[in-house]
Amino acid sequence: MSGGHGDAGMASGKMAKLKELLQKSENRICADCSAPDPNWASANIGVFICVKCSGVHRSVGTHISKVKLAATQ
Ligand SMILES: [Zn+2]
Repeated sequence: MSGGHGDAGMASGKMAKLKELLQKSENRICADCSAPDPNWASANIGVFICVKCSGVHRSVGTHISKVKLAATQ
């Protein structure tokens, strides 16, 4: 036994929570490069990132970072 991937059952309110967090001023900068007004989020890491960094997160794979569009302009 080497343990399992018990990652099923994602809460459906997760994105709503992310949007709520995005309203807070401390989340108005990208967690990776500090660019203002990040519109993307890593749902599993729980950070907000700019469009540039979202591309980086996506390139590393969804097993590392699940990038979601958190806000639209
Ligand atoms: Zn960034």
